[in-house]
Amino acid sequence: MSANTPSSAANAANTPETPKISNFLRQIIESDLDKGTYAQRRWAGTPGDAAHHAAGQPDPAKIRTRFPPEPNGYLHIGHAKSICINFGLARDYGGVCHLRFDDTNPEKEDTEYVNSIIDAVKWLGFDWNGSADAAPYQASDYFGFMYRAAEYLIEAGYAYVDEQTAEQMRVNRGDFSKPGVDSPFRARTPAENLARFREMRDGKHEDGSMVLRAKIDMASPNINMRDPAIYRIRRATHHNTGDTWCIYPMYTYAHPIEDALEQITHSLCTLEFEDQRPFYDWLLERLSEGGLLAAPAPRQYEFARLNLTYVITSKRKLAQLVYDHKVSGWDDPRMPTIVGLRRRGYTPESLQMFADRIGVTKSDSWIDYSTLEGCLREDLEAKAHRGMAVINPVKLVLTNWDDLMGAGHLEPCTQPALPHPPEGVESPTRHFTIGKEVWIEREDFEEVPPKGYKRLFPGNKVRLKGGYVIECTGCTKDANGTITEVLATVVPDTKSGTPGSDLVKVKAAITWVGVANGVNAEVRMYDRLFLDAQPDAGGKDFIESLNPNSLKVVTAIVEPSLANAAPDQKFQFERHGYFVADRVDHVPLAKPVFNLAVGLKDSWGK
Ligand code: ATP
Ligand code: MG
Repeated sequence: MSANTPSSAANAANTPETPKISNFLRQIIESDLDKGTYAQRRWAGTPGDAAHHAAGQPDPAKIRTRFPPEPNGYLHIGHAKSICINFGLARDYGGVCHLRFDDTNPEKEDTEYVNSIIDAVKWLGFDWNGSADAAPYQASDYFGFMYRAAEYLIEAGYAYVDEQTAEQMRVNRGDFSKPGVDSPFRARTPAENLARFREMRDGKHEDGSMVLRAKIDMASPNINMRDPAIYRIRRATHHNTGDTWCIYPMYTYAHPIEDALEQITHSLCTLEFEDQRPFYDWLLERLSEGGLLAAPAPRQYEFARLNLTYVITSKRKLAQLVYDHKVSGWDDPRMPTIVGLRRRGYTPESLQMFADRIGVTKSDSWIDYSTLEGCLREDLEAKAHRGMAVINPVKLVLTNWDDLMGAGHLEPCTQPALPHPPEGVESPTRHFTIGKEVWIEREDFEEVPPKGYKRLFPGNKVRLKGGYVIECTGCTKDANGTITEVLATVVPDTKSGTPGSDLVKVKAAITWVGVANGVNAEVRMYDRLFLDAQPDAGGKDFIESLNPNSLKVVTAIVEPSLANAAPDQKFQFERHGYFVADRVDHVPLAKPVFNLAVGLKDSWGK
């Protein structure tokens, strides 16, 4: 473990922008700060037991929270909520948030996941463990202490080795209506238990042949208190500790100890852990009594997990989509993973805004997907450069161009990239040209206009946005009656931005791209991944509700500023929506590739 110099000032990147709305977690923290609940704590600079911290300094961090993912998959939007809560509260209250890998399960870890989690937290704008370059903590570093604590519990009469079969244990645990039955091994002496437990550690017994259990209360109304298993035998090579151990602590035992060694004050988790809280408290009380862990102990508080319509938030199920090739990978832009959202065009600011907007509550509910999209739209509105792209093109020929402007003439045009730049920011200028031929959207011409139609039809004038006013004269068709070209004439002296250009009044301005400088781009039009708003609720097979049309790839023609985009740059394609240059496949000018991030208006469910 590396030594850290914890200070809230080190969390400079985590500066709050707006005052935050209160919630029950903020109230708890504020009350603890008022009462000085944790004011006497000491911190030795690294995690450790009671003696370790007693030798340290008064903790400069007013509170300590933690984000403890299991590195068994990529993080998703639900984790983003948890990250924003834990890191956000630490930042707001002069504390520190720990990034800790909960790697106590030897079978599932993978360094690919570890690295992706580190990237995700950084990308969201946070640092951890009190400094910008600190190593994350890992629960497996605490195996030695966990073992020592288990021996202490045995010696104090709080734990015993149980050799019942898993099935016997299950039956004897009872259920909600029936108290449990004591194991025949429950009355063993501490000395016998200690000998047995050491044999377990020394590899003298088969996997699954016995477990260490806490000795609490087999009649407790809370089944989690009926002597929960705390250590099991499992011969597996651990990514950090190798083959040092053939016994591993159970999650419910490991987690409170991890929190306590790290001097966590507020341990925030999702509601499904509520029933574990009595054991969390029981364990930490025993170990503080025994002088092993510093007091006061961390406390656990539960909040509602995020449920988002049309989205699955379970690493296991997301993994299934990846391994069954239902999506192109963890970072497929349809995935609710942080890497997927990022590739889709989501910004850290939009996810922060989302977390703030949905807030923290204690009751489960479903958040509408449009709330997430609204945050992205709001964030990109001010900062995404504008550009024109024609997605379903038809050619428009300006039949008087050569006579008026000279054959082959290309007239340079400019437009601001940001129509409403934030204060103090000057908008960059986009450059493009207009010539005799331009691409327009097929839907912008109607031979026989429907009522109220204001765009191109014979005899009507519109403005080519940033270009000239034109008057439609008709169209040409092929043998099937499909329109091949729209015909129009340029109205002289109407170039945008020139004096008198607005003397000719029009009812509509349409988007276009010059044939001479338009660039073909691959545009990936994404839709929701599932058709069912709650794809996996009630044990439904979510694969059945996959949307067969969640991706349509089209070739669009884009103006030069778009073709020249940097990977990951976001744009508003005027009238179409927000798009991002794909981080993986986009090559500026040579092979532009864009992903639809979000439409301009909320079309969700319509
Ligand atoms: P999954 O079921 O997707 O694997 P998990 O809870 O098992 O999720 P962990 O890696 O153990 O994943 O989670 C790390 C933290 O993120 C935990 O504190 C957990 O409570 C929180 N978290 C996970 N999913 C959500 C969610 N949907 N909403 C809010 N917090 C979540
Ligand atoms: Mg988990």
